[in-house]
Amino acid sequence: MQINLFYSEGFKRHCPEPSHPESPLRSEAIFKFLLSGPLKERIKLRTPRKATFEELYLVHEKDYLLALEEACFQGRFSFGGADNQISFDTFEVARLAAGAALEAVNLAREGEKISFCPVRPPGHHALPGRALGFCFLNNCALAARYWLEYGGISRLVILDWDAHHGNGIQEIFYEDPRVLYISLHEDPRLSFPGTGFPEERGAGPGKGYNFNFPFPAGADDKKYLELFHKKIIPLLETFAPEGIIIACGFDAHRDDDFSLLNLTSQAFYEMSKLLGNFAGCRNIPLISLLEGGYDLESLVVCAERHLQGLVEGLKESAKRAP
Ligand SMILES: [Zn+2]
Repeated sequence: MQINLFYSEGFKRHCPEPSHPESPLRSEAIFKFLLSGPLKERIKLRTPRKATFEELYLVHEKDYLLALEEACFQGRFSFGGADNQISFDTFEVARLAAGAALEAVNLAREGEKISFCPVRPPGHHALPGRALGFCFLNNCALAARYWLEYGGISRLVILDWDAHHGNGIQEIFYEDPRVLYISLHEDPRLSFPGTGFPEERGAGPGKGYNFNFPFPAGADDKKYLELFHKKIIPLLETFAPEGIIIACGFDAHRDDDFSLLNLTSQAFYEMSKLLGNFAGCRNIPLISLLEGGYDLESLVVCAERHLQGLVEGLKESAKRAP
């Protein structure tokens, strides 16, 4: 079982202030940890390319993209809010992150089962015309649109277990029945960006294809896994996706200060194993894109456990095949 790992030194060139939590060290730390650990032999390194403007138009507005590019070139400090700090290369790095997501889709089309993109900046808060919450380009949404447009599939799931609600993904696909968006996150009354209530269920033809599962502060592995068994897997079985994108944030880990959730790395292993098993039984590809996760020590361990879970789940499904 091969894991396609998309990494570029270029991810380090988006440089918020040193005190900013979305640090240039994040992607590199994951990359180095994975390559020095037990998954090393399975990893096939892939080099991302920059997404083109045409590809970015699948989700984002032209004026927004040009304004972001211009702000970076002008040396501005932030774009669309103090949280979204930028540096000269931010737009180019964001294009590289988005390009990794698109190339992962191309690999999925060629039959690759697992691609992991520990990219930065993250994407799930970004809207078509607005940067938000450290996010500039919505990598998951771009991958989903690209997959539907060019990948020969007609429905996919985006499963988002970042501690924060992926408002951008929800908004982009709110009326689209081809994308089932499922988000597990901290109670929006406590947590940025304040969306992600269970009653937000989609609209128009997309009604019934948006699921939010908020958790109270202190929710642990047991609560998440219970939901996975009782709700998430049955939802996937009913929807029967042809591909799965994981909006893979690790800030619900108990050591991460960005939420009051209390998961351990074991939860990410177990949830991934269930997804791997589901995908293996149906022979569909998995693409995992890094979102949040700001405590470097738990971030790298969670990333490894996540990939081990996917591999184990896929192996398990193969054993059960006739
Ligand atoms: Zn987050």
